[in-house]
Amino acid sequence: MSKVIAIANQKGGVGKTTSTVNLGAGLSKAGKKVLLIDLDPQASLTLCMGYREPDKLSATITNVIDHIVNDKEMDSDYGLLHISDTMDLLPASIDLSAAEVSLVNAMSRELVLRTYMENVRVNYDYVLIDCMPSLGILTVNALACADCVLIPVQAAYLPVKGLQQLIKTIYTVKRRLNNDLDIEGILFTMVDRRTTYAKEIVDEVNEVYGKAIPVFKIEIPMSVRASETSQAAKSIFEYDPKGKAAEAYRELTEEVLKNG
Ligand code: ADP
Ligand code: MG
Repeated sequence: MSKVIAIANQKGGVGKTTSTVNLGAGLSKAGKKVLLIDLDPQASLTLCMGYREPDKLSATITNVIDHIVNDKEMDSDYGLLHISDTMDLLPASIDLSAAEVSLVNAMSRELVLRTYMENVRVNYDYVLIDCMPSLGILTVNALACADCVLIPVQAAYLPVKGLQQLIKTIYTVKRRLNNDLDIEGILFTMVDRRTTYAKEIVDEVNEVYGKAIPVFKIEIPMSVRASETSQAAKSIFEYDPKGKAAEAYRELTEEVLKNG
């Protein structure tokens, strides 16, 4: 049984891509077969995985979407980059933003990614989708084909209002397109426990949402080493295995494995 996790928050810079990379690496280290999908035209995930010139890749998720929308046949490994024995990447590049526009007129435009997922998920234990910072049609596609959503939240500004909008979208998608969609949990990232502000935000989110939505007890700490991993194109487990961010992502991985 495979599990598809959308990593989503319409706010940028909250740790979606970093969490995708490191949760993916953790699951892969645990021997699980993992597919990472870059669903952001900024291609941060693709860059983080060491592909510095996404525009030069022969195929990306844009081509995959094009094949589905135009009913063209493709192999189930079309566009995939082989990272390791237990990890593949479906990369993105900037032309994904044009694909997003073209989707507007496509038939069943919310379900394009689901069609893809039905074919490829059988090859993996976990599929992680790194969403773009918007609640547009691509993110809706991710929510429409996912089993659950992981919501990274940066504990450095008041996120409650943005969260309301996101959660509303998740429930709308659940009602109309994907009955099985669940919320895996809210994950606090870049937490600096020395500031009372961070603590207040964690408390407030727990108070407002904690009853209805799971909130991970594990918090990802603010860590300079973590912020350096994308440039180094390494996971935190390779870059700073003994650091506190690696420890947190290790615990997050265990929690996700436990949730099934
Ligand atoms: P998003 O995908 O939501 O836009 P990113 O994962 O790209 O967010 O993270 C935004 C920025 O914060 C990046 O520069 C990243 O390196 C940095 N960052 C991510 N996690 C941490 C952390 N735990 N501590 C410090 N910086 C972090
Ligand atoms: Mg990102």
